Amino acid sequence: MDIDTLSKGVGLFSVALSALKQAINHLPDSSHKADAEAAYEQAYRELKIAEAEVANKLKYEICRMHFPPEIMLSKDNKIWICPNCNNKKDKTVFAKSSVSRPS
Ligand SMILES: [Zn+2]
Repeated sequence: MDIDTLSKGVGLFSVALSALKQAINHLPDSSHKADAEAAYEQAYRELKIAEAEVANKLKYEICRMHFPPEIMLSKDNKIWICPNCNNKKDKTVFAKSSVSRPS
């Protein structure tokens, strides 16, 4: 499966899942609602993992400080920040360390 197809599939799954969440929110409180919420939470975790896989293929950085993983964002493709926990990855540090090899 190519990345465009995978990306679209994940996008559609995300839309379907948020519609499901709204439907669950309108259910009256009951054990059935709790079951539906548990199923939703599991599907949401699967979605976050699929999103992270797509993002990884698109060369985004992934925050691994928590699970499910979060896609990190960057304005300059150097400093990457996790919108969930504010974890920072400085790609320039890795770039510099890879240049200075022992001779
Ligand atoms: Zn994070």
